[in-house]
Amino acid sequence: MSTAPRRPARVVILGGGFGGLYAALTLQKELAGSDLAEVTLVDRRNYFTFTPLLPEVAAGTLGASHVCYPFRSLSKRGRLHFIQGEVREFGLDEHVIWIENLAVPYDYLVVALGSAPSFFGNHQLESHGLTLTSVADSLAIRNHVIRLFERAAVEHSPVRRRELLTVAVAGAGPSGVEIVAELHHLIHSTLLKYYPVDASEVRMLLVDGGDHILPHFARELTGTGQTLLVKRGIDVRLKTRVTGAGDDYVELNGGEEIVPTRTLIWTGGTAPSSALTRLPAAKTRRGAVLVDEFLRLPDHPEVYVIGDGSHVMDRRHERPYPPVAPVAIREGIRAAANIVNALEGRAGEPFQFDFTGNIVGLGGGMALVNFLGITFHGRLGWWVYRIAYLLRLVGAKNKALLVLTLGLNALFDRDISCETLPERAVCLGGEISGDAGSGDTTSAPGGGESSHGLRGATRERFAPPGVCTGGANESSPEATP
Ligand SMILES: Cc1cc2nc3c(=O)[nH]c(=O)nc-3n(C[C@H](O)[C@H](O)[C@H](O)COP(=O)(O)OP(=O)(O)OC[C@H]3O[C@@H](n4cnc5c(N)ncnc54)[C@H](O)[C@@H]3O)c2cc1C
Repeated sequence: MSTAPRRPARVVILGGGFGGLYAALTLQKELAGSDLAEVTLVDRRNYFTFTPLLPEVAAGTLGASHVCYPFRSLSKRGRLHFIQGEVREFGLDEHVIWIENLAVPYDYLVVALGSAPSFFGNHQLESHGLTLTSVADSLAIRNHVIRLFERAAVEHSPVRRRELLTVAVAGAGPSGVEIVAELHHLIHSTLLKYYPVDASEVRMLLVDGGDHILPHFARELTGTGQTLLVKRGIDVRLKTRVTGAGDDYVELNGGEEIVPTRTLIWTGGTAPSSALTRLPAAKTRRGAVLVDEFLRLPDHPEVYVIGDGSHVMDRRHERPYPPVAPVAIREGIRAAANIVNALEGRAGEPFQFDFTGNIVGLGGGMALVNFLGITFHGRLGWWVYRIAYLLRLVGAKNKALLVLTLGLNALFDRDISCETLPERAVCLGGEISGDAGSGDTTSAPGGGESSHGLRGATRERFAPPGVCTGGANESSPEATP
């Protein structure tokens, strides 16, 4: 009697962010030399993004090559396939996933689709806010700020110069604090050297509805961080909400105050990836998928949901784990280890994670650090911040590039060349052609998702009309030097 050879189990990982990447790396390591399973990683981008360094990409301190790691480099190491595409549908009963028009069958599924900006249904904020979730977003912010300095350099009206040189950041969590601090550093260490702009004309606001910045940090660190930002001249507005925005303004507290500006950076909220709305499973009100202590769907124990898109209770403290990278990494490792346990006939282990601390970069060689309850900041904080991220960065080439670039940054100014828009979309004192901002770069359905970083690109095309809506009273080519 002949028995058919057993085929390897098919493990499919959706999303190659922190959770998905570490699930893939763990499976690759644990299954090395075995034919128990074949792993397929799926992502809409063909590279992993190291999000904690995106604010530094937006400030021109680092570039895309430091924070991106191509998935094909992983698959070269063996037993890992990669598919680039958009996750569309979940056939949980049939054990199949639809990646655009491609049906991908699985025996075990890891869903790690992350989160996306949420504007809480406010369309003004959605269409006028620059987001910070991808390399494209970061480069769009950098280009936008530098281009406004170019405009300010030829603008005679002090009122309009001030408007061009005002940056408003909504949300004082780690991303908001880091982006306002990094842009402040870019402006004061580099841009003011090259542009005929006075430092007093630059205005930076950090706006948050809470009563202190960095809500999940040790209180003494948030106090220190706030003092350092205020000392640099950043206007920290607490207990204040950004409630609206237009081409040339940001509205605070429902119209109590209007801030003239061309720049709103939105870090005020996130929600689980919109693709999860199509996953038939119980969810929280904000859309995070409820999983058991093994990170599995209760009705489909072969499906694991991890990272920002899942709701995992920390039973010891009776609260959910927060949506941060270390949690996603540990969940990825745990989900992968439990799949290996299942393949080898062992029982799974519940997920548990203890935080060792947190870090926030403040630009200009400063950072706030909480390590095992010990808090410190300043230069020492910066070194810890740098070493921690250097160790976490994926890929030896990225690590080498980071060290090299930081050395060069100490010797030379940052690059201030910026992407040029199509001529018809950027005009000094002229009109804008009809198709600029025509809506071909709309966000993904489901609300709030900066799919492929296109929201940033939308704003790129969208911003200049406001900047150069010519007219008789505005700056015109003749009026400019
Ligand atoms: C600017 C910024 C700075 C941050 N800084 C820190 C920090 O300093 N420390 C910290 O702990 N956390 C930080 N975070 C949060 C951290 O990035 C997230 O908690 C972490 O990335 C969550 O991991 P994840 O695997 O759940 O999702 P992600 O890492 O977001 O990965 C999700 C992946 O799924 C893919 N994807 C999504 N939808 C689809 C779809 N429909 N089809 C195909 N692919 C899809 C995406 O392309 C992405 O690769 C930061 C986030 C941002 C945006």
